[in-house]
Amino acid sequence: MSATPVSVPPAAKPAADAFRLEGELPMAGAPAVPMFEIETLRAKEFLPAAREALSALIKDQSENRVIGPVFNWARRNSLFPLHWGLACCAIEFAAGFGARWDAERFGVVPRSSPRQCDLMIVNGTVTWKVAHKLITLYEQMPEPKWVIAMGNCATGGGPFRTAYSVVPGVDKLVPVDIYIAGCPPRPEAMLDGILKLEELIRERKE
Ligand code: SF4
Repeated sequence: MSATPVSVPPAAKPAADAFRLEGELPMAGAPAVPMFEIETLRAKEFLPAAREALSALIKDQSENRVIGPVFNWARRNSLFPLHWGLACCAIEFAAGFGARWDAERFGVVPRSSPRQCDLMIVNGTVTWKVAHKLITLYEQMPEPKWVIAMGNCATGGGPFRTAYSVVPGVDKLVPVDIYIAGCPPRPEAMLDGILKLEELIRERKE
């Protein structure tokens, strides 16, 4: 009497390999089934594949690779500077928003409340008397926020650097991201500083 052949079940594949195509090398951190193919799977394959794809998405988000670039794109194209002026550089600041230079075409719109602003352009001589007001306004601005020191006075005290009443650079009070030289810098220089700031925001990783 001949022996009955015994069928041996194939060894179960690891879950991550179950949806991988033959010969395809796994990419580090990538889900086995791309998100756009998941809806084509049968019901019992759908749940593990969806779980794996969502885990990869959440991991990407925790490293800010999904939403971060979109937020940064929105931030750098909608900078809201505080609507204020300290000295003669403020006239150049104001001119930059007139019809000739039209800073608003870059999405730069001055706002009168620090709570709606993400950019402080320090456009004039900063005295010690006004220093605590400047710090208060900066602290009232929500994060993330940036500071441009516009002109020689804001950058380092300018022609009044040695005066007892003048702060020798606004970086003594708040962190400065961009410095614009000139006494006064022209509106084109202010626009160039704003575009440089946009490049900085583009390079941000968070
Ligand atoms: S840098 Fe020159 S133009 Fe600007 S606030 Fe100072 S003195 Fe005035």
